[in-house]
Amino acid sequence: MAENDVSKQKIKVRTISLPKAISVRALSELLKVSGIDVIKQLMRGGILVNINQVIEYDTAANICKAFGCLPKPETVSQKKSASAERRAAAENDKNWSNLPLRPPVVTIMGHVDHGKTRLLDAIRHANVMAGEAGGITQHIGAYQVEIDGQKITFLDTPGHEAFTAMRARGAQVTDITILVVAADDGVMPQTIEAIDHAKAAGVPILVAINKIDKETANPDVVKQQLTKYGVVIEEWGGDVIAVGTSAKSGIGIEDLLENLLLLAEMEDLRADPNKPAKGVVIEARMDKTMGPMATILVQEGTLKLGDFVVAGAYYGKVKAMFNENDKRLRKAEPSTPVAVLGLSGVPTVGDVVSYHSSEKAAKDLASSRLAAANKAKRENISLVNLFDQINKGEVKEIAVVIKTDVQGSIEPIVDSLNELSNENVTVHIIRAAVGSITESDIMLAAASNAIVVGFGVNAESGAVTMAEVENIEVRSYNIIYKLLEDIEKAMKGLLQPEFVDEVQGHAEVRAIFPSGKSKAAGCLVKDGKIMRKCKAKVYRGGQVIATSDIEALKRFKDDVSEVAAGLECGVTLVSFSGFVAGDILEFYLIKKFT
Ligand code: GDP
Repeated sequence: MAENDVSKQKIKVRTISLPKAISVRALSELLKVSGIDVIKQLMRGGILVNINQVIEYDTAANICKAFGCLPKPETVSQKKSASAERRAAAENDKNWSNLPLRPPVVTIMGHVDHGKTRLLDAIRHANVMAGEAGGITQHIGAYQVEIDGQKITFLDTPGHEAFTAMRARGAQVTDITILVVAADDGVMPQTIEAIDHAKAAGVPILVAINKIDKETANPDVVKQQLTKYGVVIEEWGGDVIAVGTSAKSGIGIEDLLENLLLLAEMEDLRADPNKPAKGVVIEARMDKTMGPMATILVQEGTLKLGDFVVAGAYYGKVKAMFNENDKRLRKAEPSTPVAVLGLSGVPTVGDVVSYHSSEKAAKDLASSRLAAANKAKRENISLVNLFDQINKGEVKEIAVVIKTDVQGSIEPIVDSLNELSNENVTVHIIRAAVGSITESDIMLAAASNAIVVGFGVNAESGAVTMAEVENIEVRSYNIIYKLLEDIEKAMKGLLQPEFVDEVQGHAEVRAIFPSGKSKAAGCLVKDGKIMRKCKAKVYRGGQVIATSDIEALKRFKDDVSEVAAGLECGVTLVSFSGFVAGDILEFYLIKKFT
């Protein structure tokens, strides 16, 4: 009997928030029972599904009840902060509440000139770690301060570029964002972008209303403006804390730090220092004397001297570790940033770092990653592949960045798009703003796996290049009906591709020669054939670093229209010349589908 089965599970009564549609796997995770048990329960009701299939709210609600839980519809405001989600995931770990708290990791974002850098400086100088006389001597990309005996880790690169670059690589390191808004200038375009980024990442915001020392400062106006963008300060009835600061005079800095700790306490940030170490690369460079140097933010476990680690596609033994005060460390616990020496190469910011028990295990993983990276291309969301991804259960939400020519278009487009959401897929607008499509829009889309839609506007040239490099779909429309129709068709799998890249062949860069003011790549064609009329993508370490038209294709000194596999040739590109031996050039033609 179903009831007996359920009672055997010994599930205590819990309220479960359910979305409009949910996969069997996700539901079983919410219920903390095995997927098989959920499938069995569905079968009893005559529903045959596999673990990846999506079921509707009503069905899921019945399953919840059968497992003794109380279902309720999820509302948008229930979207948890990223840390809360990690916490929920970790709840399975019964020891969660016994784990030690870890310092919060904080990123500062906001409009240019609103005082991000100076605020970071003020924090650094006001609160150099106790006992670290002499202050910070090394820029390692992050630092820790201590207040009331509690540590806070600050990422040292202000602005949302670094934040987004890491998210685009799947690394979420920030627990709390400080949004800096100058009290004399108010909410500006990059303030709004920063809000979008923090919200898309599910990271809580603490507002620093800076430059309050200025005569023209008007913090109340700032608070009012922020409300318009969904950042509602406590005194306006919301739950966001705002602190008046002056990075110049130091007013409010202590207050800001205390509030950070308060927010961190609410987020209940914990990590197990006894697990094998895991972390993320937050800065990396080649030091002339010391070789590859990477700053690793330890996220769980404890990184120790002598550990074997893999960072992205590189491996090594931790030969030395030091902090921002140039102090050599023997171990680094969760939320500690440490500069590490000993890696076999310079990893990329955002690369995951993991501990391995032997050098061989680390080396093998690094080599297989390098090989995979050389092959793999990022498969981002696009309208043409959307339906497949929905069907495979890979996509439940289509994130959209919308840019329009006039303010008046935003509301009707947003409303109509929201109405397209159905039980399988929800349309989620992560930015809707006036203006042409910029690089910042593409960055946000890349970090959130979104598509970018322009209405009455096109992409700026920098944004076009970035979209190609990041593999982000950008579409421009002039008729709302057409825009909605395309997205609706995409959701049903009816949209045909308009343009596709047809790969013709690949060549490996073997040597680099001067060619007039530019540089030519001496290449060996590895497969297919390459043609003068093709476009080329330059891959390094598996990532596209440039796309360009071909300026010249030569065999010895002669211009040629094509070169077959196995032959050598010289290639000059129109908009790229920074070749490095080992780069892979991919040659393709753009085919239009009608
Ligand atoms: P960022 O672009 O956001 O990093 O801004 P900066 O930190 O470079 O600051 C921009 C300018 O504002 C600099 O001239 C700072 O000296 C000044 N500034 C920053 N914070 C304050 C402040 O609290 N009060 C005053 N009066 N000036 C500030």
